Amino acid sequence: MKTPSIIVIGAGVGGIAAAARLAQHGSHVTVLEKNSQAGGRCDHISRDGHHFDTGPTLLVMPLLYDAEFAKLGASAREMLQLQRVDPTYHLVFDDGSQLALTSDLNSMREQLESIEPKSYLGFLRYLEEGHRHYHLGVDRLVNRDFRKATDFFTLANLPLLFQLKPLVGHYRNMSAYFDDPRLKSAFTFQDVYMGLSPFEAPATFSMMPYTELAHGVWYPKGGMHRVVEALMEIASTAGVEFVYEATVERIDVSGEKARGVVLADGRRLDADVILANADLPYVYRDLLPQDAMADRLENKRFSCSVVSFFWGVDKTYETLNPHTLFLADDYRENFKSIIDDLTIPENPSLYIHAPARLDPSMAPAGEDTLIAIVPVGHVSKNGEQDWASIRDEARGHVFRRLKTLGITDLEAHIKFEVNFTPLSWRKRYNLMKGSTHGLCHNLTQLGYFRPSNRHARYHNLYFVGASTRPGTGIPTALVSGRLAAERIMDDLEVLG
Ligand SMILES: Cc1cc2nc3c(=O)[nH]c(=O)nc-3n(C[C@H](O)[C@H](O)[C@H](O)COP(=O)(O)OP(=O)(O)OC[C@H]3O[C@@H](n4cnc5c(N)ncnc54)[C@H](O)[C@@H]3O)c2cc1C
Repeated sequence: MKTPSIIVIGAGVGGIAAAARLAQHGSHVTVLEKNSQAGGRCDHISRDGHHFDTGPTLLVMPLLYDAEFAKLGASAREMLQLQRVDPTYHLVFDDGSQLALTSDLNSMREQLESIEPKSYLGFLRYLEEGHRHYHLGVDRLVNRDFRKATDFFTLANLPLLFQLKPLVGHYRNMSAYFDDPRLKSAFTFQDVYMGLSPFEAPATFSMMPYTELAHGVWYPKGGMHRVVEALMEIASTAGVEFVYEATVERIDVSGEKARGVVLADGRRLDADVILANADLPYVYRDLLPQDAMADRLENKRFSCSVVSFFWGVDKTYETLNPHTLFLADDYRENFKSIIDDLTIPENPSLYIHAPARLDPSMAPAGEDTLIAIVPVGHVSKNGEQDWASIRDEARGHVFRRLKTLGITDLEAHIKFEVNFTPLSWRKRYNLMKGSTHGLCHNLTQLGYFRPSNRHARYHNLYFVGASTRPGTGIPTALVSGRLAAERIMDDLEVLG
């Protein structure tokens, strides 16, 4: 049999993982990336000795990293030099009270009981549920491809309707465990990673706070971009060829086949298989002939976006922990502003990352590297939002919130700022609507209902990444890479 030729559009985590696996199994794989470096959303920038992860900052669900790296013949723990971050997050509430989420149960008991008497018991029960949701969710939903409806709608899956609580709202479900709204928000804010508000997310997602505490939040030495470098090492060893500054302008199709791609500079490259890692709704809208599916996808629910600030600072803020989260009292209103009104809340919840607390080499000696992330709505259909003023508002909120921790002079110590708005996300990575996590994970966009990793008409065109199965996040992108590669290999085998 002739060696199959495969073109991967985009060098995001899912694309590189799939490329590595396909090359290890004998295909000739070329990855075409529009930017000058690999990683997609898992990107990084460096300036004057300050190093920033511009996308992911949290290595969560470590067991999936272990499993996926092992399937690529490598060890995540060895390649990434992981250190555990514990406490994971320092939560700061509007009234100034704080909660450090930690795997130290004695500390959790003390802290929780001081916020709400008898809540420790609720916490243990919540973890028990999270444990069940995590293991069932990973085994039965995340690690599976649903190539046809009958793979999903099985009698064996029926009990999941009760076991995973997909029909129960996550926030509403919290009343079974806690009364204090601060605790309800402390164990549901992670839903935003799925692009959802806890008021609409299924209770299934208690799996996230569970895995963060039980399996840990980790940090690779040198930052999250190390994950990309490790994958590149595996892929390059397997013979994958990477071409940068190679923007695909169109996928060439005829009949029921994708024939190749046409690049922005006019070059045309043919292949037996095309695997698109670029954001799936964007691929349907911008790279393929227009059809009803492109419209359907554009009208689906997208996750929110964020305004991010990357600051090189001329002094060290030792009191800032690695991951600090300011959670707003008006939690419901916060999500409404972001998700329904597509804007910035009046008093937004926000996140600050100080990587030099974990790895001093992320900032020059005596200085600091700070990242602030403020969730906001995605770009609206008619694009009427004023992102410059939303960005300035977001910056003001970060400075205001830091005062709660006694940090009043940050503004005066910033040497330089780089910032990203939803328009930056859209432009840098071709993310539709500048939505940082792609299609969100509500009930109608999960499992079999999430867009398939193979095109319905062009049978040699496949998809990998956040907006296809299983979903968003780095560990899920690794799984997505394996699922897409396995499907391609199975199909190639059938075709002989
Ligand atoms: C701000 C932010 C914070 C996050 N935090 C976390 C976190 O803490 N933990 C976590 O696990 N996940 C996090 N995520 C999610 C995670 O980064 C993504 O889910 C994951 O990186 C998506 O990978 P992907 O395989 O979908 O590829 P993408 O990252 O979408 O990469 C696709 C690639 O395709 C390229 N491309 C697009 N169009 C073309 C074209 N026409 N021609 C050629 N190339 C093209 C793009 O440039 C890009 O490199 C975060 C994301 C963001 C944005």
